[in-house]
Amino acid sequence: MKVEALDLRVVQSPPPGTDPQHDRVAPVRTCVGCRRRALIGELLRVVAADGRLIVDERRRLPGRGAWLHPVPDCLAKAERRRAFPRALRVPGSLDAQGVHERLERLAEE
Ligand SMILES: [Zn+2]
Repeated sequence: MKVEALDLRVVQSPPPGTDPQHDRVAPVRTCVGCRRRALIGELLRVVAADGRLIVDERRRLPGRGAWLHPVPDCLAKAERRRAFPRALRVPGSLDAQGVHERLERLAEE
């Protein structure tokens, strides 16, 4: 009976509207500044490189990332609590100048 094989194929195919390539976990991260959870789209991804913090604009850089609301308040809180070195597992301090500049540019836009 060919009907049986056909039925099996129907069951195995993904339900409509889902993309198997896509991460199905809700894209939510915790801001290292205010500790509130937010959608990835609302946060900046920050990574450490050569003792500096850089904004990962495309969220594609390898390694650990820290997530931050793109507002000076959250950046200040994160710096005060030394949240970046902790979140990124980097010993010592990190130069946050690049992140400050990025937020200033955002404010101007
Ligand atoms: Zn925040």
